Amino acid sequence: MNNNDTISTDILIIGGGPSGLAASIHLADIFKQRGLKGRILLIEKGRSIGSHIISGAVIKPSVFRELLPEADISEIPLTSKVTKDKTIMLGKKGAIALPFNIPYMRNKGNYTASLGQICRYLAVKAQERGVEIYPGFAVDEILYKDGKVIGAKTKDTGLDHHGHQLENFQAGTSIEAKITIFAEGTRGSLTKTLIKKFNLTLGRNEQVYSLGCKELWTVPEGNIEAGQIYHTMGYPLNIDEFGGGFIYGLKDNKVAVGLVVGLDYKDPSFDTHDAFQVWKTTPFVSSILKGGKLLEYGAKTLPEGGYYAIPKLYVDNALIVGDSAGLVAMPALKGVHLAIKSGMLAAETTANALENKDTSERTLQQYETLLNASIIHKELYPVRNFRQGFAKGEIIGALHFATQLITGGAGFFGRLRSHPDYQTTQKISEFKKKPFKDRFKGQLEFDKVLTFDKATDVFYSGVYHDEQQVVHLQINDPDKFNAINIEEYGAPEQFFCSSEVYELHVSKTGEKELRIHAENCMHCKTCDIKSPEEGITWLVPNGGNGPDFQNM
Ligand SMILES: Cc1cc2nc3c(=O)[nH]c(=O)nc-3n(C[C@H](O)[C@H](O)[C@H](O)COP(=O)(O)OP(=O)(O)OC[C@H]3O[C@@H](n4cnc5c(N)ncnc54)[C@H](O)[C@@H]3O)c2cc1C
Repeated sequence: MNNNDTISTDILIIGGGPSGLAASIHLADIFKQRGLKGRILLIEKGRSIGSHIISGAVIKPSVFRELLPEADISEIPLTSKVTKDKTIMLGKKGAIALPFNIPYMRNKGNYTASLGQICRYLAVKAQERGVEIYPGFAVDEILYKDGKVIGAKTKDTGLDHHGHQLENFQAGTSIEAKITIFAEGTRGSLTKTLIKKFNLTLGRNEQVYSLGCKELWTVPEGNIEAGQIYHTMGYPLNIDEFGGGFIYGLKDNKVAVGLVVGLDYKDPSFDTHDAFQVWKTTPFVSSILKGGKLLEYGAKTLPEGGYYAIPKLYVDNALIVGDSAGLVAMPALKGVHLAIKSGMLAAETTANALENKDTSERTLQQYETLLNASIIHKELYPVRNFRQGFAKGEIIGALHFATQLITGGAGFFGRLRSHPDYQTTQKISEFKKKPFKDRFKGQLEFDKVLTFDKATDVFYSGVYHDEQQVVHLQINDPDKFNAINIEEYGAPEQFFCSSEVYELHVSKTGEKELRIHAENCMHCKTCDIKSPEEGITWLVPNGGNGPDFQNM
């Protein structure tokens, strides 16, 4: 793809994760079956497909049989069938394996895998079908004509910090498309503007998120078998913090470990990365990592609001799929198969629209009908109140969940509402419990063998950002930010950021300033979600910038 021009395509897909790749593959297959012709173009901001992909992952395989009916399941890099699946109640010193797994958390028949590897495999399958894939290009603008989406534009490059053109300036490419599919994953930055412009959340719940920090390790033989998986509850989280850990045995003595924490916590100094390090020091987790070596680190948010937080997913000439649409089945911590399924249903809707030469929202509405008749509705509807129930803590959440199980998801109160995560953070003056650092006194000095400080972990993500560009993390209103965010909340960014981007600098005269080290950014999007009063906007940086995950 050349910069500095306008190109046309039938379908533009923004994002090369499982949802976008599945949409492209299925669309190419339908075109072939129906004898249709059409150009399918997929743009990915990572420097290669997979480099921005991070997941657990334990994956439900059946959707791959639908997407790639000709493929042998052993050809798909689903590394190991789950052989042992335990839920562990974790304490600081002890661990008790529950005699049963929590409903929706049973993983019989599922596989452990690296989602990055799966995406690379899917990209090959898409290219074999004629899909044009362009990694290393960030899309940062939606193109509109007469108020309707007509495509999108890749980012201008060669700008200095103030947005002035440098010698190497290159204007982005405008890509005009009959239909644009937004597959940007969690908190999609273009999807966010699309949702706002068309008020697509009208009557829906607020989306809520978790942040997951993950490390990939190689460990001595015998520490864990491939296909052995554990989910942990409890320590180091309090009963009013939602989340838990995962330990997934992969082949070749590798293990994926992570802690996922709901961003609706109240403590302005809570730090998910550091809580993850404390979690690793428990005897249960450390025994699995003993003698091993860290290979990679990464972090990403995931949407957890469920059924009631799904926005309207179609407008004239555009559809939203995967995590951008909020399609994660929360009690199970699973979104991959739903992302793939939504991509396939978007492909079917798109093919019908092109065939009928009508890409208006009246036709694209079919996508919603298909979603409602699919496993997506089947999996999300019965747990439609799950995450909202836990907003009031683990005990009330568990009680709510029990009532939902016996009432088919309704619970005793019907639809429960949710609040945006930034609203749940308390001001320093309001937060009366022990702040994070006091809770874990003496446990936050990391030994760089089992536990790692953020800066070291960031090194293991391969992250890179061009120096010459407008800082992609924008403080929306600096005066208000200083007065509220820094003074009243104590600059929570320095704690919630997964990658040491934000530093509170205090001058000799006591003036406080939030310094932004955008070069460390992991693209997890936590700051866009959790910054008090929506103080920060995450904008798309230059294409090819960001982490360089290999096997996450
Ligand atoms: C820590 C963690 C653990 C998880 N564990 C599991 C699990 O065990 N099982 C499971 O099923 N699910 C799990 N999930 C959820 C699952 O990973 C997601 O639901 C799934 O990846 C969503 O796929 P997607 O295609 O919608 O988005 P993504 O996988 O996020 O892919 C989106 C892609 O779009 C690209 N992109 C975004 N914006 C732009 C732009 N403007 N221009 C160009 N490219 C762009 C991104 O770089 C990325 O490559 C987990 C998630 C996390 C964070």
